[in-house]
This record gives sequence, structure tokens and C-alpha cells, in this order.
Amino acid sequence: MRAVFGSFLAVAALGFAGMAAAADKYADFSANPTNAPIPSVFGFAKFIKPEVTKVAEGFYTFSHAGARNVFIVTGKGVIMTDPLNPTSAKIMREEIRKVTDEPVKYVIYSHGHWDHAAGGTIFKAEGAKFVAQEKCVAYFKNFPNPDVPMPDITYKDRKVLKLGDTTLELMYLGPNHSDCLTFIRIKGTPYLVMVDMANPGSAPRGDMMDYSLHHWVRTLKEVEAMSADGVTTVIEGHGPPTAPLSAVAERREYLEALMAAVKAEMEKGTPSDKIADTVTLPQFAHLKNMDRYFKKNVDRVVSYYTIGY
Ligand SMILES: [Zn+2]
Repeated sequence: MRAVFGSFLAVAALGFAGMAAAADKYADFSANPTNAPIPSVFGFAKFIKPEVTKVAEGFYTFSHAGARNVFIVTGKGVIMTDPLNPTSAKIMREEIRKVTDEPVKYVIYSHGHWDHAAGGTIFKAEGAKFVAQEKCVAYFKNFPNPDVPMPDITYKDRKVLKLGDTTLELMYLGPNHSDCLTFIRIKGTPYLVMVDMANPGSAPRGDMMDYSLHHWVRTLKEVEAMSADGVTTVIEGHGPPTAPLSAVAERREYLEALMAAVKAEMEKGTPSDKIADTVTLPQFAHLKNMDRYFKKNVDRVVSYYTIGY
């Protein structure tokens, strides 16, 4: 990245009138032979248009079908995060090519889950090296997927990745969401890239799969504390292109309030299968998807306090 601060600017939003046009446009490189709508990770069975947003000079975020990654043009090649899925990855490759002729040199896995990690084969074919926290290797071996190339480079706690004049610090903050999540600090900028930790403006998805709840809260506090290191803005794997650090605080406050409310209800002796009908958090009614996810969130916390999961 040649310069790091800049205003948000949507540089390419592929416009089309509707789903039929979208299916035609991507017919050639869709991994889906029927061109059926791609089920997004939010569960919407509808096509969501791809979008590239310029965050700062040389620094972009790509979004498609409900998931998001980032790519950085360094002058010596491109560093990108998750390929997302085979269909999105092919669209992403075309979008990156519209911005730069530089090859993709590194693909950094945020973690092992397939809604972010699949689709990298095309980048592997052009010579990209794949980077992940070392515990993702065991995850990928346990849950093999032909669309998920194994990492070429792993790290344990911290790794500095330099290319051109871009320096990234990859950080493992322990278990939180899965047990191999990488946080990426883009040095010299106010940006932190993370995935599945805060989804700004929304309630957590459903039954909060593969989260260690107390470690999740701990990690969010650690991210909030990065303000002392100049972090003001996060780029998440779902949701808007960027969000202030206050979105991280809001997610942490939601989890703390949810856990306290469920615990209090359990201590009253309310049967566990009735707690989701009893607990409310009106102070978070403004969050998106509360109607869809809140009761599942409650049930997940009941499991946490019942069996330690
Ligand atoms: Zn995940």
C-alpha cells in the first residue's frame, strides 16, 4: 500500500438489473452448474452483488454473497485474505485484475471455516502462498475440502508479513471463534482486519457456532484495547466495509448482557427450555436480526452454563 489514509470510496459496484442479469454475467465462471442463487452465509438464498470498496490507497475490501475479504496492492504483488468460496473467488479474481495487474502473492486465511476459506485453488494455481495460524492445519486435515488448499506458511503467535512497502502483523489471540483465528494489523494505518468476531450492527448469528463464549468476550476486550496502538477501524468478514471500534464494544456489551441475563434466569430456577421465552434485552433491540437470532443466542448461552460448551 503506497499511502494508507483515505476516504471510503466505492470504486466498483457491479450493477445489474436483477438476478437473471446476474446469472448471465457470471455464467462462464460459476462453480454452480445450475447458476442457482448462492446461499449466503446469513442464510438468504438470494444473489448478493459483488462489491469492491476502496478503503485507502492500495487497500480494498471485496464483498459477495454476504461475506467479505480484503486485498492490498503492495507494488510487489497482492496480499489478500480469505477467498470466501469457489464462486466468489472467481469473481474476486476478476475484480482484483480490474484494479491491478500485480499477481496475488499471499492468501491469508482468517480461520478454517469453509464460508471464508474455500475457493483458493485459483490463487494457488497462479503461485500464491497460503498463510494460516498453525492450528488451522489440524482443522483442515480433520475437515478436508478440495477447494481449501493447505497453508504453505504457518505461525504460532505473531507473524510479520512484508511485501513492497506494506507490513502486516498477523496475530493469534487464542481460542475465540474456532481456535485458529488470525487478526491482521495493517501497520501504519488505523485498520484491523478480523472475521466473525463482531459483524457490526447485527446480533450474532443463530446458535453462535464454534465460539468459546468467555474467550470471545476476552478477545473483544483485547481488540478494543488496540485503540492504544492506533486502531480505530475494523474490517469484518460480514457486514459493512468498515466499522468503528465502537462496533466491537457493542458486540462485547451484547454478549456480556446476554450471558448475565441468561445466568440470572437460570438462577431463578426457570426451566432451561423456557429461558429463551423469558429473557429480553430491549437495549439491543436496534440490532439487525434480533428477531431471527436472539432466542437461538439465548439457547446457546444456556448450553454454555449447563455443560460448559
Ligand atoms: Zn467462522
